[in-house]
Amino acid sequence: MKSGVVAIVGRPNVGKSSLFNRLAGSKISIISRHPATTRLKILGVINRDQGQVLLLDTPGFELPRHQLGEFMKKTVLSSLTEADLTLFVISAGGWKKEDEQLLQEVKRLNKKAFLIINKMDILPRKEDLLPLIENSRQRYNFLEIYPCSALHQEKWDTLVKIIFQWLPEGEVFFPEGQVSNLAREYLLAEILREKILEKTYEEVPHSVAVEIEDICPAKTNPEMVVIYARIIVDRKQMKPIILGRNGERIKAIGQKARLEMEQVLGKPVYLQTKVKVIPDWRDRPDVFRRFGYGQF
Ligand code: GDP
Ligand code: MG
Repeated sequence: MKSGVVAIVGRPNVGKSSLFNRLAGSKISIISRHPATTRLKILGVINRDQGQVLLLDTPGFELPRHQLGEFMKKTVLSSLTEADLTLFVISAGGWKKEDEQLLQEVKRLNKKAFLIINKMDILPRKEDLLPLIENSRQRYNFLEIYPCSALHQEKWDTLVKIIFQWLPEGEVFFPEGQVSNLAREYLLAEILREKILEKTYEEVPHSVAVEIEDICPAKTNPEMVVIYARIIVDRKQMKPIILGRNGERIKAIGQKARLEMEQVLGKPVYLQTKVKVIPDWRDRPDVFRRFGYGQF
């Protein structure tokens, strides 16, 4: 049997979480058009006849601007360190400064790495690919260079097969059937956060966290679950933005989140949300640890 840890790394917004969900075969990690959405190390398990891949999605690599950023950077580096194989993701748009900074870490740790050139659909001229591959080869001894588009349903199994080729022999870590390390609360919180990100702009997405306070059966209907969620913002001006005019935005957010939660739990859900201001929570590790952003 083969088994190993495969870390997906790259700068913010190159499509790491999209790729992660494609490879893991189900949606585990949340995706958004805002950079720096993923805040912690997320594990997906891929089981095949050959063995098991422990796939890690990681926050985008960038220079930290607050303590949460500092923690996110440590998360990337710890994922890199423990990886048997690294999927280094760049955009087909080409190498940027942050890609290079992260590559320095890969070099320093002397990691085995594939280069994934994602967002091939945005490459205006297909003939630009060859020079990009050539240029990338000179930067590092990548084991494979794999152009793709995580937006599309491609033959992801081909990539999984190539990954297995480079994994060490080993025993499987998790029983079949387990697809992720995420606690149920965290998965539910992330679903709600994703819907908030879909409906907000600019600085709002970064200042939001979600905490699930309680999950319990409904008194009137034991088949139904009641989920109490707290939406945390870091300034009081953010609160009306989340709520929207006459509470319309929070209603739309809650509705979309509820539908997805029902799919995950396989039960009807009653979702109760509350918005709370915790000033500067991103600079308070004692607070953001509670949201699950505290272990790496
Ligand atoms: P991450 O920050 O690296 O985890 O990136 P996400 O997976 O959250 O994706 C960031 C944004 O890029 C989202 O809006 C995705 O829908 C989009 N995206 C991801 N993969 C592709 C791709 O192959 N092509 C295009 N055009 N967009 C993509
Ligand atoms: Mg992500």
